[in-house]
Amino acid sequence: MNDDRSSQSHRILLWRDRVLMALLIGATAWVSLNVTRLPGEVSAVWVSSGIFAGWLLSRRTALWPGYVGAGFAAELAVRLLSGDSVGSGFAFSAFNLLEVLIVAGVVRRLVPDVGNPTRWLGLGGIATSSTLAACAVSGLLASAVVSATSHTPFLTTFLVWYSAHVVGMVIVATLTLVAHRKGIGLSDVPGRRWAFLGDMLLIATVCGLVFYQSAYPLLFLVYPPLLYGVFRHRFAGVVVGISLLAIIGGIATALGHGPLALVNESNLVQRTILLQLFVGTACLMSFPVALSMAERARLTARVRESEQRYRMLADYSHDVVVRMRADGQRLYVSPSSRDVLGWEPAELLQPNQVLVHPEDYAVQQQTIASVLASGHPVTAIYRLRHKEGHYVWMEAAARPIPSADGDTTDIIFAGRDVSQRVAAEQALKASRDELEAQAHLDSLTGLANRRQFDERLTHALGRSRRQGLAVALMYMDIDHFKQVNDTHGHAAGDEVLRVFGQRLSACVRAGDLVARLGGDEFVVLIEDLSAPETAEAIAGKLIEAMSEDIVVEGTTLHVTTSIGIAYSAHPAVAKNLTAAADAALYAAKSAGRNTWQLLPTDDPANRH
Ligand code: GH3
Ligand code: MG
Repeated sequence: MNDDRSSQSHRILLWRDRVLMALLIGATAWVSLNVTRLPGEVSAVWVSSGIFAGWLLSRRTALWPGYVGAGFAAELAVRLLSGDSVGSGFAFSAFNLLEVLIVAGVVRRLVPDVGNPTRWLGLGGIATSSTLAACAVSGLLASAVVSATSHTPFLTTFLVWYSAHVVGMVIVATLTLVAHRKGIGLSDVPGRRWAFLGDMLLIATVCGLVFYQSAYPLLFLVYPPLLYGVFRHRFAGVVVGISLLAIIGGIATALGHGPLALVNESNLVQRTILLQLFVGTACLMSFPVALSMAERARLTARVRESEQRYRMLADYSHDVVVRMRADGQRLYVSPSSRDVLGWEPAELLQPNQVLVHPEDYAVQQQTIASVLASGHPVTAIYRLRHKEGHYVWMEAAARPIPSADGDTTDIIFAGRDVSQRVAAEQALKASRDELEAQAHLDSLTGLANRRQFDERLTHALGRSRRQGLAVALMYMDIDHFKQVNDTHGHAAGDEVLRVFGQRLSACVRAGDLVARLGGDEFVVLIEDLSAPETAEAIAGKLIEAMSEDIVVEGTTLHVTTSIGIAYSAHPAVAKNLTAAADAALYAAKSAGRNTWQLLPTDDPANRH
């Protein structure tokens, strides 16, 4: 029931639309036939076909048959009322219908949506060339009929018809189309309405001045304000501007005013044809401009849309995305800076906001320099200052991007907070360093262990060879240590070892190495030109130091040590030196303990 009613009202609307079109076609045809037609000739102005074609292009192709019938009937009726014979009325109405169908059919087929064509300039080209061809076809047919039935020459008829139909079609079809299609319609932005009125008034004023006088052929003065209006208002500028030109020029020319009166004062038809050519030229000049402007507007909109799309990616990213000029000035900062660094993007866009940790500044500068030099992405880790004052470790991928003006290169940083990872890495490194250190220390005394001693000895021998320095090695072994353990217990023995280590360390200089090799064996490595004297001095001091009592848990102990010293001015092999120190220690033990022995080692390989 409801469907019936709505389809019924739809049908009524459709018929009303057809009748409106038929009335417009009929009225304009009547004016053309009765005002602009001389006996035996064709009309000098013909806008009905333009209304017809513009109307069809604004409607779905499936609805065309009803409109075609209505338009054809309207023109035929007016022709018969205006005195045409039935035959010529049918013929001319058919020629016009053919013209309209060629233009509307070609445009519809090649540009299915005239309100939003894939290319505006393409639409302009298709519409213009189909109009030129269609009017030639109808003109040839009409001129053939006219020349067969009257004395008017074929070419004269053709020229009058052709100029009238081309200009009428170009102006009026477009006007009709624009009136129907809001998408390319009159500028309805409120702020621009006054600008539009002002620009159209300018066109009207210039047209009025040009056509008011008949003394000078000043037609060309019309073009600048017309093109200005077209530049600013595109299709609306073309349609209203050209209409003003046609109306003002038409009235003036009909009244015998204006520059066209200079041509032939008595021949109105000739003046009308010239006026149409003038208006048609203005059309052909304005349309490409309006079409290019529409094309440009569309491209701009597309660029803006894609820019917005990518901006959205950056805006919603968890990473902090920053676009920076090569001089360090930030141009864009993503909103994630708020979560990661505590700064509002706007705060970071202010110049001279330095965030990089002073120690990492060089890293950042190096990153920028290598991105710019190589043109490839570079990843770096550095600290940035959080708004609350602490620093956040960021891992940033930096890549180059052409600057907005295209002349220089900007850099895009995509950085994420890696503070937790860096903290874990630092903790891992600290414990690894600790382990490394532990591996080189004796846990009981805190002195260097055998491993560290071996490494240092190898180094010392290498350096000695290069620099010609003497090296001395002192081996120490506590006398009768087993008895300490046996009498006072292992713990007391450990304490004695610790005290021995402390006293030994107190006897040497900072550069000398003191190590516990194991058990009650200790060693001192001295790298010095005066090595033997230094070693002897240490030995003396140590024996002196050990003469003091050691008190362990209330028990007073007395402990001595034997010392073997080896030294060489040219040591080549570590084994020789250690063997000599061992032998010297054995000699000291044999000599009754609590004493030292010195054994110089001469390396046979270095003897001259
Ligand atoms: P000598 O005068 O010939 O050196 O006689 P000594 O009794 O000191 O004999 P030696 O140097 O061979 O004995 C070393 C002893 O040190 C053997 C071992 O029981 C003891 N010892 C080894 N390591 C440790 C330790 O870490 N703590 C303690 N308390 N004793 C240890
Ligand atoms: Mg011992």
